Amino acid sequence: MSVGTEPVDADAIVIGAGPNGLVAANLLADAGWSVVVLEAGDEPGGSVRSAELIEPGFLNDVCSAFYPLATEGSPIDDLHLSDHGLRWLHAPTVLAHPALDGSCPVISRDIDVTMASLDALHPGDGASWEALVQRWTDLQPHLSHLLYRPFPPVAAAAGLVRHLPPRDLARLGRFLMLPARRMGEEELGGSASRRLLAGCALHADLTPESTLSGFFGWLMCCLGQTNGFPVPEGGARAVTSALVARLESRGGQVHCAAAVDRVEVHRGRAVGVHLTGAGTVRAGRAVLADVNAPMLYTSLVGAGDLPDAVLGDIERFHWDDATFKVDWTLDGPIPWSSAEARGAGTVHVAEDTDALTVVASELARGLLPARPFLLIGQQSMTDPSRQPAGKETAWAYTHVPRRVRGDGAGVLGRDWSDDDVGGFVARIEAQVEALAPGFQHLIRGRHVLTPERFEAENPNLSSGAINGGTAQLHQQLVFRPVPGLGRAVTPIGGLYLASSSAHPGGGLHGAPGANAARAAIWHDRTRPWRRRGAHP
Ligand SMILES: Cc1cc2nc3c(=O)[nH]c(=O)nc-3n(C[C@H](O)[C@H](O)[C@H](O)COP(=O)(O)OP(=O)(O)OC[C@H]3O[C@@H](n4cnc5c(N)ncnc54)[C@H](O)[C@@H]3O)c2cc1C
Repeated sequence: MSVGTEPVDADAIVIGAGPNGLVAANLLADAGWSVVVLEAGDEPGGSVRSAELIEPGFLNDVCSAFYPLATEGSPIDDLHLSDHGLRWLHAPTVLAHPALDGSCPVISRDIDVTMASLDALHPGDGASWEALVQRWTDLQPHLSHLLYRPFPPVAAAAGLVRHLPPRDLARLGRFLMLPARRMGEEELGGSASRRLLAGCALHADLTPESTLSGFFGWLMCCLGQTNGFPVPEGGARAVTSALVARLESRGGQVHCAAAVDRVEVHRGRAVGVHLTGAGTVRAGRAVLADVNAPMLYTSLVGAGDLPDAVLGDIERFHWDDATFKVDWTLDGPIPWSSAEARGAGTVHVAEDTDALTVVASELARGLLPARPFLLIGQQSMTDPSRQPAGKETAWAYTHVPRRVRGDGAGVLGRDWSDDDVGGFVARIEAQVEALAPGFQHLIRGRHVLTPERFEAENPNLSSGAINGGTAQLHQQLVFRPVPGLGRAVTPIGGLYLASSSAHPGGGLHGAPGANAARAAIWHDRTRPWRRRGAHP
């Protein structure tokens, strides 16, 4: 990996060394292309990095931490990164969702444990859960194809038609569209099991009432049940190291501190990129952009090179919510009152589905949630290498409005002043304390990422939006990133969108990068005359 050395011309230039850029670069290198990845930051990884953010000896994941989507069937899994040093670890329990009444449903990779947990809270929910998981297991090959391959999903659709009679196909279509609240009411009897489902749906910027949120919740729950929420030994950065090592073993190069400020376009075709404060690097075959769609279309490519319709559509691009994250170093594991939560790698904090609806309504109105929904990662029992013995590293993030218009609790201001940041951190910590008395006494240090700081650290993370654009139906599938551009191709020849702004969106699975690389390879094979004709 190079910092500061001159990047050389190559068959393909990849802008951005996030996981999608690195997956794309690996596939291009596998096809025999010379590949140069240009990364604005001082190190590769984008939202998949780790660092001693707070104190030496304690490794925190800067953004993402646990990776259910990197498992079986995903493009990143197909790269066999274990051959390049990646080792997945699992917490004793996948996910716990404690509440103040003492109930704590869990997902364990042992389905008998999950079923017993749900049956204890509402008899019969264990069997209902098993049926939901069975439905996923039956359909997983087709649904994985639908998720991870470009649109239109011809092979997935054909597979489903062969697999299911027409009436069942229609039932499946309805099931996949359900809001999480409705899916919970139809499929599960107890409010504790229902909150497991709704909590998983709200990893994305969906509400318990939005179309598709049931699918997201079901997907995350079933992935947790069948594959777990694995974490890499040595932190998130181990995924990035393995991707870089694999790429370099095939001759690819990664250059850091190399920010691209312009895609060079000649006669309607991308022929290279311009680096901030430096020269131009030429791309003989393709440029792949692992940056968000608004950045690509409004900053890196000139308006004169784009159709007016695309410029109009990108103005309507709908971002997902902003993010606020706190990392802690702790003098011991979080002392959850519910013993079930102490062994879980991931913990959700929200009382029930109604509480999640309140949070969603606050976000829709631009209010800081009075009781934010917390996604908490706690790593010590999974990966002791990240902190000294007996200590703990943990993080929590929550969704906040992109433009703050007020506070659901009527206390904090709108501009993330130091007081606002401190007040919001105190709100988050008080919620954990209520479920884990003594937590606050264990805090050794903390590191806070506000929406603004997320973006300052990674220009791709607009206000910390984790999904590269909303996950709601009106910006999914053929509507992602904008209507009519539902694939990796762009209006400019040889330029491909490879980031999570493309189908199917955020999470570590590598699909946008893989789809962009495959599209570039396919076009290069089928239309080489365009490439030759377009060169200056
Ligand atoms: C707080 C947070 C928590 C998350 N938690 C999880 C989780 O637990 N599990 C999970 O699966 N997913 C999680 N995600 C989502 C996941 O990390 C992202 O979906 C994924 O990293 C997107 O990958 P990407 O390659 O598209 O973009 P990024 O990871 O953002 O990478 C883009 C890269 O491009 C670089 N770049 C930007 N502009 C330029 C430029 N002009 N020139 C050169 N380089 C440039 C950036 O510096 C960056 O390195 C989380 C995200 C966040 C923010």
